[in-house]
Amino acid sequence: MTTKVLLERTCELANTFLGELREGRVGSAAQYETLVQALGGPLAARPTEPLEVVEYLAAAAGGGLVASPGPRYFGFVIGGVLPAALAADWLASTWDQNGFSFVSSPAAAAVEEVARLWMTELLGLSPDMSMGIVTGGTMANFTGLAAARHALLARAGWNVEEQGLFGAPDFAVLTSEESHITIFAALQMLGLGRTRVTRVTTDDQGRMRPDALLEALSQIETPSLVCAQAGNVNTGAFDPLAKIAPIVHAAGGWLHVDGAFGTWAAASPTLRHLTNGAALADSLSVDGHKWLNVPYDCGFIFVRDREAHRAAMMLDASYYTPPRLPARANHHWVPEASRRARGFAVYAALRSLGRDGLAELVEHCARLARRMAERLSVAPDVRILNDVVLNQVLVRFERADGDADARTAAVIGRVQDDGTCWAGGTTWHGMHAMRLSVSNWSTTESDIDRSAEAILRCAALA
Ligand SMILES: *Cc1c(COP(=O)(O)O)cnc(C)c1O
Repeated sequence: MTTKVLLERTCELANTFLGELREGRVGSAAQYETLVQALGGPLAARPTEPLEVVEYLAAAAGGGLVASPGPRYFGFVIGGVLPAALAADWLASTWDQNGFSFVSSPAAAAVEEVARLWMTELLGLSPDMSMGIVTGGTMANFTGLAAARHALLARAGWNVEEQGLFGAPDFAVLTSEESHITIFAALQMLGLGRTRVTRVTTDDQGRMRPDALLEALSQIETPSLVCAQAGNVNTGAFDPLAKIAPIVHAAGGWLHVDGAFGTWAAASPTLRHLTNGAALADSLSVDGHKWLNVPYDCGFIFVRDREAHRAAMMLDASYYTPPRLPARANHHWVPEASRRARGFAVYAALRSLGRDGLAELVEHCARLARRMAERLSVAPDVRILNDVVLNQVLVRFERADGDADARTAAVIGRVQDDGTCWAGGTTWHGMHAMRLSVSNWSTTESDIDRSAEAILRCAALA
């Protein structure tokens, strides 16, 4: 058995999966125990032929795969995979480059620098911002907040990387009431505390209120780290960053913006206005594996103060000398040493789309989200809870006896069982709601119409 035959068969298996993605059932009905049993059992002492392993894996895992890269998966904020990004990701595994540094892979370093330059331009950011490619939005938030922690404490004469937080000068952390859970995860990992924060109130769409921020900051004597967001995970709404940034900076603070999916609006001339002020952020997180439609795992952190970014991610080894400038050492900007060469898929996605293609991807999804909201709201007992400004739609299913929470939960359950499309639930301002995210390049108008019909069909039975 040659590797060539193995990979050709693997390619066939991949094409079969992709071929079924468009028309197949969207959710998975697999039972956990059944999957573990099918895949597991005692590990044989003797080797198994690679081809047999791959055939077996594809067959046994198949029922447990979710069509989340497909066109009618609207759960969470997921996104699909652009063909060029998929192909480049195959190559990244094949080349098996260590994305650590120019020293371990010149190509992996060069491609990240190209991605940094393209992305700062596409997103309207300063070309001087440093950029790290991390595993996703969570680690992007972690890295941005680590840079903030470095900078705020360095200004107070404290080197947090050397001395730790014990006995460190104080600084305040402000989040919005609506900050994403991963902001709190990052704060918890950085020793900043998930509840030792001031939560700034938000408006009806979940946008941070600048007057409330101003008021909160006026009560605080120490320097402040303020976490705002571009793209609320429920409503898609943007904090008014053009108002928030000057307030934070006038108070001598650091502004971190979690723009996991929303930042991509900056690539579209018609939606860019939503992100106004994002370019003023001291650190900005963006996801790659969501709306850019590259495979997992991929996120970006952009930081204005390169020295703070680098100091926060410092690692030293006697056996390693960083490359001479300007060659890039990817590890300077991420909390990892050895890592996947994530830049290849990013490069391929951006190059295959071009500037216009990226704008169209974002606008296309936003148009389809509005279409979904329009299709659903024709039913008299269906209410859209948010202003559909981007790609997120919140839907509530009303009921005559008033128990809309129960009916909404029942509709979501039926939709997931039905399998035409997949949507999850959320709680918005105390109300249970169905949340739909349109973030896949391959979704069409007819996918939206079919899905809306299926949802209304399930609603009629619930
Ligand atoms: C998804 C998301 C995150 C977390 O990103 P991961 O890539 O899942 O780690 C953070 N913030 C927002 C607003 C998100 O939508």
